[in-house]
Amino acid sequence: MNIIGLPALVGTYDNYIWVLSQGEQAWVIDPGESSQVINYLEKNRLQLTGILITHFHHDHVDGIPALKQAFPNCHVYGPEKTENSLIQTRLKTGSQIHLTDHFSLNVLETPGHTHDHIAFHNDDVLFCGDTLFTGGCGRKFSGTFKGFADSILALRSLDDHTKFYCAHEYTESNLKFAALVEPDNLPLIKRIQDCHLNYPENMTQAQSSLALEKATNPFMRFDIEPVKQTLLKRGANDTAESLFQTLRQWKDQLDQSGELDQVSFTSLQQRFDR
Ligand SMILES: [Zn+2]
Repeated sequence: MNIIGLPALVGTYDNYIWVLSQGEQAWVIDPGESSQVINYLEKNRLQLTGILITHFHHDHVDGIPALKQAFPNCHVYGPEKTENSLIQTRLKTGSQIHLTDHFSLNVLETPGHTHDHIAFHNDDVLFCGDTLFTGGCGRKFSGTFKGFADSILALRSLDDHTKFYCAHEYTESNLKFAALVEPDNLPLIKRIQDCHLNYPENMTQAQSSLALEKATNPFMRFDIEPVKQTLLKRGANDTAESLFQTLRQWKDQLDQSGELDQVSFTSLQQRFDR
């Protein structure tokens, strides 16, 4: 299976639309726009077979009508918990989509960012939408903190070698926050030093691995020392829900105040170089 990430809504939401293709068939995940997808499919002589949706935020679905118009036979898959007439097959935990004879995706409900959110995964890949990002996680909208924490713990149980594909390019902001939470985490320091983004180029390989996220993403580490101790000092109690909520709200505060924007990522890299 060939997998490529096409940048979308660059400068506003900084999404990736993931395109999977084999032979002449292609599938897209979370098309918030359509023109770059249609261009890519035409240039590579691909037919769009399916559209997979993790959740119904507009930056993940606004491209569906134009794609359906260009490829009327493509089939739309989305979360069971979403009421939307665009969805032809509704998915829940345990559902499977057979893209080819040798490539299927399993569905896992991952509520938290939204109540309806689902992720797609198999032994090799995870497409987690806005549940987790490189070095971070999505904001909580219609989900609950408890559900969000449980969803992340479920994703943490997937194999380390799983390739990680998420729906936005927020790595620098996320790693700045991660460095505040865990300034002595050596794998995190190395990740910051090694981080060289070229968004909005097409992403031709996985953004990350679950092993790297487990080692460096504070939202995958909310119940692990020393992140847990830091959160207890910030008023959390010792439950997954409270630890996760305290961490997420800490990041929300910094996003709102613009504090993280004032730290340049390059200066952070240089600080760790010394
Ligand atoms: Zn979203």
